[in-house]
Amino acid sequence: MISIRSFSTLAFSLTLAACSAEDQTKAVMETRAEVPAEPAGKVVKTDAEWKKQLTPEQYRILRESGTERANGEVYKEFKHQGKGTYHCAGCNALLFSSDHKFDSGCGWPSFYDPAKAENVVLKKDSSLGAVRTEVTCAKCDGHLGHVFDGEGYKTPTDQRYCINGGGLIYVPAKDAAPLK
Ligand SMILES: [Zn+2]
Repeated sequence: MISIRSFSTLAFSLTLAACSAEDQTKAVMETRAEVPAEPAGKVVKTDAEWKKQLTPEQYRILRESGTERANGEVYKEFKHQGKGTYHCAGCNALLFSSDHKFDSGCGWPSFYDPAKAENVVLKKDSSLGAVRTEVTCAKCDGHLGHVFDGEGYKTPTDQRYCINGGGLIYVPAKDAAPLK
């Protein structure tokens, strides 16, 4: 039989575990009031410079091809964002727009098209034992996510740009109200 004392110790450690799990998902999408200036050309920085500029989560996604947790805080935030544009957190390049946002239900921010195609580069990615198409920023080579074709979504392109919201900067449109 479990004693009161060991039960309360157990409850206490469960609370601690819940708190530390929460801390790991603190990274929310960077938001700015004004549209940042587009980079003039290619943005090349040293690893040390990227580490200094980016948050640890932005660095992990953009520079180490990391993937944020599905259905995490960033995704919840994304779902409630209204009209606006999405820029690269590494170099400010315009990447996506709420005009092409759709609810794919996959747990990551999804768009059916980039907002500025020349700012997005697609690369063949054979990691994890499957051939996928990686989406990167054309200006700073930052990793953004992957794009999937022909899954049957009722969108104009039937493409799903499955993007890590943590690597983006959201700029709400001036007349935008957050979705409820
Ligand atoms: Zn970039």
